[in-house]
Amino acid sequence: MTNNRFDAERITRITITPVAFHDPPLLNAVGVHERWALRSIVQLTTESGITGLGESYGDEAHLRRLRHGADALIGADVFAVNSFRPLIRQALAADSGVGGHGMSGMVTGSSTEDRVLSPFDVAALDVQGKILRRPVTDLLGGAVRAAVPFSGYLFYKWAAHPGADGDIWGEALTTAGIVEQAKTMVADYGFDALKLKGGVRPPDEECAAIEALRAEFPDMPLRLDPNAAWTVQTSIEIGERLNGVLEYLEDPTPGLTGMAEVRRKAPMPLATNMCVVSFDDIAPAVDAGSVDIILSDHHFWGGLRRSQSLAAITETFDLGLSMHSNSHLGISLAAMVHLAAATPRLDYACDTHWPWKDPAEDVVVPGTLEFSDGAVPVPTGAGLGVELDEDALGRLHEQYVRCGQRDRDDTGYMQSIEPDFRPVTPRW
Ligand SMILES: [Mg+2]
Repeated sequence: MTNNRFDAERITRITITPVAFHDPPLLNAVGVHERWALRSIVQLTTESGITGLGESYGDEAHLRRLRHGADALIGADVFAVNSFRPLIRQALAADSGVGGHGMSGMVTGSSTEDRVLSPFDVAALDVQGKILRRPVTDLLGGAVRAAVPFSGYLFYKWAAHPGADGDIWGEALTTAGIVEQAKTMVADYGFDALKLKGGVRPPDEECAAIEALRAEFPDMPLRLDPNAAWTVQTSIEIGERLNGVLEYLEDPTPGLTGMAEVRRKAPMPLATNMCVVSFDDIAPAVDAGSVDIILSDHHFWGGLRRSQSLAAITETFDLGLSMHSNSHLGISLAAMVHLAAATPRLDYACDTHWPWKDPAEDVVVPGTLEFSDGAVPVPTGAGLGVELDEDALGRLHEQYVRCGQRDRDDTGYMQSIEPDFRPVTPRW
């Protein structure tokens, strides 16, 4: 007789550790990156003593929600990830009385749940892979590519944070500075695609930077992301000027309606990680015809399996799929690589902030995640294939304790340096 009953592998402990690592003064439409990037590291342990890893945002309100979520998952079977979301929903309903909504205004209820679910989904898959001795890609249906291509992410930036030493990248406030940055990044990492974070300089200047990048790299796919800093009219004009130059234009203008207006006239595909950020946003975006490409991000789409659902939806509606990134550490990069490797129709090189991180600062043991020709080979070890460096986790947590930063506030930091700065959207 076959025994069809399986023993559960229960979650017995979840630790959430906030960490801080150095971040360069990268400029964007709403301000400038602060001295420290904040993240949370999740360690999820089961009754057999197996620990899986997850990584998410480090803002205070999010940390509080993660802790509520973690409490609700104690006792759950690590293979029953479908049970996590309702448990988290219940835990967050209890949290609503506590007050404090540390996440930005555009975030909906469903995406808050998914943001909390994400690192636990990743950590559970890491445990499952360790038990089964298979990489996470195998739990997602198997790798369809051995390495995941990323784009080089260019930023206008200052040479240094005020009063601090400069970083290795130096200043980039002009077209020449951006081209130099691109040459260094391509030489160091071998990227085959480039993205410029815009919304910082007047649109004419950012266009000129893209045109200069085209002259320097004749065959390189190029993208520009002004983070909704432009009006509909400006977006259409820039779209026409960069016809045939941009692979896609990312979030030129705010909102589904504005994006749809631009999309009717701009010659290139429009991508977003701002007006479609949760499953609730997809139907209205398809109805309005707002976007061609959705930038997935497992940190806000509910983890790896829900991101696979997003991939299926984009196929259904013939939308393109790319991948968004925030400043992140190695656990997130490993999760991004496993997900992208197991996503059959991923149309574009993924975004990553990786080159902006000090290589000496991470919470994973070095050596597993290395760029080669602009791509990261999929880790082949069990689970995520990365190992936590407990000492490094301690150091980065100590930095978090000492740095005093508790939320990401690009605008407030910019205003502390340039008091007249206003995060106007659209600005031009
Ligand atoms: Mg973006």
